[in-house]
Amino acid sequence: MLYLWNTATKKQEIFTPVHSGDIGMYTCGPTVYAHVHIGNVRTFVMEDILQRALESDGLHVRRVLNITDIGHLTTDADAGDDKMEMSAIKSGTTVQDIAQRYTDLFLQDAEKMNIKIPAAPFLCKATDHIQDQIALIQLLEKKGYTYRIDDGIYFDTSKFSTYGNFGGQKLEEKEEGARVQVNVQKKNKSDFALWKFARVDVQRQMEWASPWGMGFPGWHIECSAMAHVYLGQPFDIHCGGIDLIPVHHENEIAQSEAAYDVPLAKYWMHVEFLLIDGGKMSKSLGNVYTISDIEHRGFDPVALRLFFLGCHYRQKQNFTWDAVQANQNALQKLRSVIRTWKGSGTILVEFESEFKRAIADDLNTPKALAIMWKLVDSVASFADKAATILKMDEIFGLSLSAYVGQDEILPQEVLDLAFERIAARENKNWIVSDALRKKIEDMGYSVSDGADGQKVSKI
Ligand code: AMP
Ligand code: ZN
Repeated sequence: MLYLWNTATKKQEIFTPVHSGDIGMYTCGPTVYAHVHIGNVRTFVMEDILQRALESDGLHVRRVLNITDIGHLTTDADAGDDKMEMSAIKSGTTVQDIAQRYTDLFLQDAEKMNIKIPAAPFLCKATDHIQDQIALIQLLEKKGYTYRIDDGIYFDTSKFSTYGNFGGQKLEEKEEGARVQVNVQKKNKSDFALWKFARVDVQRQMEWASPWGMGFPGWHIECSAMAHVYLGQPFDIHCGGIDLIPVHHENEIAQSEAAYDVPLAKYWMHVEFLLIDGGKMSKSLGNVYTISDIEHRGFDPVALRLFFLGCHYRQKQNFTWDAVQANQNALQKLRSVIRTWKGSGTILVEFESEFKRAIADDLNTPKALAIMWKLVDSVASFADKAATILKMDEIFGLSLSAYVGQDEILPQEVLDLAFERIAARENKNWIVSDALRKKIEDMGYSVSDGADGQKVSKI
């Protein structure tokens, strides 16, 4: 059972499915105009933890992850350029090429981070659902929620009486002081584009015929349309990064609920921001790191996953290279230790239930990690510890099964020295560690240290 914080009600609630046994989960995916950065990846990892936690409760999760390949403009106020078109112009290629390139890179990053990705059709592209978006806009038009101005069809937020309740902040408040161009034809500052008209003076690569003429959909409508197609309404849980609350999710709710007169989702989960060296990521500071940057510095992406688990998803997390190094060291230690855990045992119930309680408490991964380390240091049998940690890893997703029990069977004296050496290395006591290596080698065993930790084998 999960006891989750719900952004919609601002309370921690017991998770009860809309339809028993089958969970509908919608996660706003990347805009594929550039490489995803580690901030995006934090959000995707924590959503993955949620999916795994639901699955470990025996629930079947139908997860939809959209790929935004149209309509996401450089500002949240329906002004500015389309990120996809800009990226294509910059690279001298087509929008389709850009979308394919960055979708492929995103999927590779997800695999390296052990993030489960839904299969087709639940991994869905906005441009494959233009007709669904047009149909939804037509429904809103029929119900009187839209109006037309020079640059597009807009949603009239004053017609949706609860607009602003979700984010607790109206767009007009948010815009104060912001350097955004205000569209003077809009009836209310918080109104947003459902369909933008193609401009005669700008040649776009991506535009479609519609009842309102050539153009392209606004950014928010894709999620409302695809969620309805694949999950129906209401569905169970909608997720994303915290920045999506005041505009994107507020607007999704307005469109979907105005169209279908039922809530969009029962629960909403939002992941707090990843900061870099205590501040924002920005291109000008050169600190918009990607998974490739992590690898180029010699780190295993799974060490980054371990780092993410160390902070509760509703807290800001501060990224530093020292923190990744510390997590890489911890991961190496863990892999070294569990290699020696041979045999088939049974799950240790007291550790398992303490672990489950931590996860059930709004996905308290830092606490769950502490319980895993307590298990590692416990005096239980290796075989039982192995069974227990593998159960925990169904949620953590650290690929521990590739390491558990992989060492050869070692004599007890060699095993003792191997453990001593892991501890010495953890304390950076290189003299002791080298002396222990010598002793192990004198007993006829080799010792190697790699990114995967310490490996001991018979010479
Ligand atoms: P985007 O590609 O900009 O649509 O973002 C994809 C996902 O990453 C969304 O759920 C964002 O809210 C989330 N996101 C963006 N920046 C960060 C950050 N610094 N930390 C955590 N999540 C983020
Ligand atoms: Zn969305």
